[in-house]
Amino acid sequence: MGGLPKQRISRHRQGNRRRHDYIVVPALVPCRHCGEKKRAHHVCPSCGWYRNRQVIQIEQRREAE
Ligand SMILES: [Zn+2]
Repeated sequence: MGGLPKQRISRHRQGNRRRHDYIVVPALVPCRHCGEKKRAHHVCPSCGWYRNRQVIQIEQRREAE
């Protein structure tokens, strides 16, 4: 009752099985607003800018209530 495979999987079968686990390449581009590295086509996590406008508010300090 050993959990051993009956047959050795060929290199082709092994690669074929793994065809879906591809590497997600993190495309990092410098943010146009703050110059920080950010994911392309994503909102900048450090300043919250996307396509020349602020889309999310990054909380640095609270002044007004
Ligand atoms: Zn930024």
